[in-house]
Amino acid sequence: MGKVVTIKCPSCGGKVERTNNEFFARCPYCDNEVAFDEIREEAQLGEYREKLDAFERDNDRDQANRQNLKNWLMKRNIILGVMGVCNCAGFSIVGFHSESVSGVGAFLVFIALSLFVAAPPLLGSSYPAYNILYDRKERGGKIVMWVKMIAISIAVLLLSAFLAYIICEVILK
Ligand SMILES: [Zn+2]
Repeated sequence: MGKVVTIKCPSCGGKVERTNNEFFARCPYCDNEVAFDEIREEAQLGEYREKLDAFERDNDRDQANRQNLKNWLMKRNIILGVMGVCNCAGFSIVGFHSESVSGVGAFLVFIALSLFVAAPPLLGSSYPAYNILYDRKERGGKIVMWVKMIAISIAVLLLSAFLAYIICEVILK
């Protein structure tokens, strides 16, 4: 702090100069302790502002991480949903043994299988591997998610094919 601050001693009216960075000084005339309140308040305000800025930065980053995860979850649900619906509908249509629509069924199954191949690398590499709870990056999170997505995609295909089997063999018979 380079600027020289002088205040009036409230006790004797003498001039008290701020010689060091303390917020209090002794009056050289009457030895009364005087406070540099304005400077102290300024310093405190500065500290609060810094804390508030840091808090807002943390908050912004937290919001962005949450939004990233939300977007990813939506993408995952759409891909797995379309995969399951196409697979189930495709196998159901093929199961009708109707020549006129079996091409459509095969096409739907083809879409499901394409998604099955594309989903793990797509969802694994785009997974925001960030632990919001602990506010840190998940090490190897993308690779783990890639493997998880292979397992989940297999489960979706098997379940939707089984559902198609139920539809054809039990409900439509
Ligand atoms: Zn004084």
